[in-house]
Amino acid sequence: MLVRVENVSKQYMVGEQPVTALNRINLNIEEGVFMAIAGPSGSGKSTLLNLIGCIDTPSSGKIHIAGRDVSGRTPDDLARLRGRSIGFIFQTFNLLPVLSAEENVEYPLLQFKELSVADRRDRVRHYLKMVGLADFGRHRPNQLSGGQRQRVAIARALAIRPKIILADEPTANLDHRTGARILRLMRRINRKTGATFVFSTHDKRVIDMADRRVDLEDGEIVRLGVRKAKHEWGFALERAEDDYDDDEETVDAADE
Ligand code: ADP
Ligand code: MG
Repeated sequence: MLVRVENVSKQYMVGEQPVTALNRINLNIEEGVFMAIAGPSGSGKSTLLNLIGCIDTPSSGKIHIAGRDVSGRTPDDLARLRGRSIGFIFQTFNLLPVLSAEENVEYPLLQFKELSVADRRDRVRHYLKMVGLADFGRHRPNQLSGGQRQRVAIARALAIRPKIILADEPTANLDHRTGARILRLMRRINRKTGATFVFSTHDKRVIDMADRRVDLEDGEIVRLGVRKAKHEWGFALERAEDDYDDDEETVDAADE
């Protein structure tokens, strides 16, 4: 198993008040999947991606990535692990505006001292070509469309050859058509290279592109799905209404 999330909870303190962002999450991510984390705003999608991506640590529970426990590590340890194992794609693209597309893709590779300059340049060209931007390497982000900027970000994430690529609402700042094209590109790369992708979305229209889905509500997993056919999902876990409407049940029982 590439990622194991075991009984993970995350609380944030807002002033004196603890806010539960995730509550006892259990999740396995197999290598090579194209997984969607779906749920409304505030349901915990970013928190979950940040924990898997070693940007943040759980309040309780454990996370294993490729067999390594990443839950109890220092910020330095996590940064090192992240730099080599995790590719990130953000909804706001997060490109460095003064760097060209090529330089943006090259940037995270500068920490790989074992790569020669020539190997590094080859890698950059390879991944820019993969995302359809072979002719745009010299362009700065402000000379590219939103869709093209996200393609640069995808190339940058792939270039470190990570174990997993995490994309937090990668289509949120794109029109629907461009967003769907970006997701199709990610899926093509997933199929072609076997790279594992986990993306979050609140756009129901793109969920059917995934082959696994995790539905979050109020920091809990309410459904886990495996895609069977184009618009058909099999659900491994489906929480019944009365599992969580305890209050209403008490009222009903009193009425009878
Ligand atoms: P989503 O990405 O699905 O919109 P988030 O993971 O961002 O959800 O947030 C889940 C919950 O945790 C929300 O109630 C949010 O307000 C809270 N939260 C997220 N990050 C922080 C933070 N740094 N400090 C306090 N509360 C936070
Ligand atoms: Mg979010």
